[in-house]
Amino acid sequence: MVKESLSLGGKACVPWFPKEGLSESLVDPALAHLAILQAEVRTQSRINTLDVSRGRVTALHSPDGVIPLTEEDTVILAVPAPVAESLLAPHLPGFQAPNAFESILNLHFRLDAAPQALGSFARARFMGLVGSIAEWVFLRGDILSVTVSAANRFAEQDPDDLARAIWHDVRRACDPVLKEPLPATPPHQRVVWEKRATFAATPEQNRLRPGSATQLVNLALAGDWTATGLPATLEGAMRSGVKAVHTLGLRRP
Ligand SMILES: Cc1cc2nc3c(=O)[nH]c(=O)nc-3n(C[C@H](O)[C@H](O)[C@H](O)COP(=O)(O)OP(=O)(O)OC[C@H]3O[C@@H](n4cnc5c(N)ncnc54)[C@H](O)[C@@H]3O)c2cc1C
Repeated sequence: MVKESLSLGGKACVPWFPKEGLSESLVDPALAHLAILQAEVRTQSRINTLDVSRGRVTALHSPDGVIPLTEEDTVILAVPAPVAESLLAPHLPGFQAPNAFESILNLHFRLDAAPQALGSFARARFMGLVGSIAEWVFLRGDILSVTVSAANRFAEQDPDDLARAIWHDVRRACDPVLKEPLPATPPHQRVVWEKRATFAATPEQNRLRPGSATQLVNLALAGDWTATGLPATLEGAMRSGVKAVHTLGLRRP
């Protein structure tokens, strides 16, 4: 990650974030592309088990029924690590995947009115913080959203104390770049605590990340938790998908 960002200079370090939401930026265009290819997309249809015969996946089982696979069919298994582990365990004894996870905490503070940002904060509408609990602050209208990654360390903390400490960070960082200072007490907030947001970025967990190829000739793995060389990120997930396509020989690198 350092090689692809810090060591390439400032331009390679500019963060990207969606203009509206991830759906508009990534999901809708992907679905539109799949529609052009006349692909069938099934949502709310979990794969429960795989049938395997002679080193090939021959069918997928979901509550809606069985999806039989022909000799030409290939599978890219792009499910979370624990799901991949449970689907593959009966067929690939000893298969390992990351099994320790970190949470991400998001707090969305709703203000009485949209604050007026100044200078670069007005242009970027987000900032990164160092030396504080809050790591990223995003300004969207009257909402100030805060992200805290690797948040397991705060799991035992009293939620009100945590919100107060984070609001203190936000005021310290934002007040100098807002026309009016923020209120001293934390405004009403929505807390979203995603418990298994990412695999734990430790050397032990990194060693458990498999490559895309498996011993099943028509099945490749994808997902941010595979051996992408990146932490659990959208970029890692995307690259893993491309790698899985190459592994199955569907397209050359
Ligand atoms: C709160 C939060 C904030 C984040 N912020 C950022 C960020 O700012 N930048 C960034 O780069 N990354 C961020 N990430 C990480 C990013 O979201 C992930 O790295 C990325 O979504 C991983 O993509 P994936 O395709 O590997 O897995 P997922 O997005 O988890 O997709 C796996 C899919 O498999 C499906 N599935 C599960 N079980 C089954 C089954 N049995 N059968 C069929 N389907 C199944 C799931 O429904 C899901 O759709 C964030 C994550 C969280 C939780």
